[in-house]
Amino acid sequence: MAAVDRAGDILAERHDAALRVLAAASSGGLPAILAGLREATKAVPQVRRVASWVVVRAAADGSAAVATALGVGRVWVAERTACVVCTAYAGLVAADGGEFPAGLTFGVRPADRSPVPDPPRHPRCRCRTVPWSDAWAAPDVLPYPRALRREAERSIAKGFALDSEPTSVRVAAAERLLRSGPDLPASVRAFAARAVRDGIFPPVPAGI
Ligand SMILES: [Zn+2]
Repeated sequence: MAAVDRAGDILAERHDAALRVLAAASSGGLPAILAGLREATKAVPQVRRVASWVVVRAAADGSAAVATALGVGRVWVAERTACVVCTAYAGLVAADGGEFPAGLTFGVRPADRSPVPDPPRHPRCRCRTVPWSDAWAAPDVLPYPRALRREAERSIAKGFALDSEPTSVRVAAAERLLRSGPDLPASVRAFAARAVRDGIFPPVPAGI
């Protein structure tokens, strides 16, 4: 079933659940109505998740279609505040029609082991791909995939994350990154080392 069709199912499920709650409420009156409303409004975050998934998938499909038309690969682009799983994919290039590798993460917990066809990597993923060919690299300019990779490592080192991602996950990711000997400026590595020592990152600056 197409993900977009799922939204209609969610609304129908929540509608039925709300009616069941209302019918079972022995006391009736306002408490029963509120209980029914609570069931119904659970549809809002669920539908929002589906909508986000559909938009990200549509963008990825569009990029893949362009890449195929050009006969080139796709490079993975993650948001600066992407999670420890998605940042591990930033800058990776999949061949034309190929998939991204399975199970990558900057985190400690292993990600699932299936190859990744395209974003979204998980619910609420905001990643995308853009067509890429190594032939497009300009002399003396860091190739786009490597620039993306460096920015992703910088995000891990600086703790650029959404509030929804636990601090402990980001601190552990920074610790693993430091152990891997990243090609980052000494000041950024020192910043990450302080965060690992303290077990917390300073707040993410506005606009990140
Ligand atoms: Zn993502």
